[in-house]
Amino acid sequence: MKNNGITIIIIYGLVIRKGDQYMDFFDKLGDTIVSATREMSDKAKDVTDSTRMQYDIRKKKQDIDKIYRDLGKKYYEDNKDSDDETISSVRELLAEVKDLETQVANLKGGRRCPKCGAVVPMDSGYCNKCGSKLSESIFEEEDEAGESEDKEEK
Ligand SMILES: [Zn+2]
Repeated sequence: MKNNGITIIIIYGLVIRKGDQYMDFFDKLGDTIVSATREMSDKAKDVTDSTRMQYDIRKKKQDIDKIYRDLGKKYYEDNKDSDDETISSVRELLAEVKDLETQVANLKGGRRCPKCGAVVPMDSGYCNKCGSKLSESIFEEEDEAGESEDKEEK
């Protein structure tokens, strides 16, 4: 009888100890899950933040490129009579574009407005896009097309 009582107490004690260990285990597991979840959401936040920042970087670089282009265009316009090699190549390309536009206009049975480049019917006196008055003689205009670039652009 005595022995049984002691045995029960010992077993009971062991169960409690075991129970505590389980509690500990589940507590720790719980903590681990909580901290893992927190870590994951922190990482997800980092990913979101870095994605947003990368988007910002791309956007800002595009803005910078646009400003560079505008600056380049302004620089060209301020120096378009210069003999500088780069300026000359832009000038030549613009003349070639103008020439091609004139050819396209002619193929379409019209002529090109010297101001805005729109294709205008041969017989119309004004550009239907920008409203510029067009010269009477289309041949005169075509003859100067390549060389009168500077005057026409202004
Ligand atoms: Zn026009």
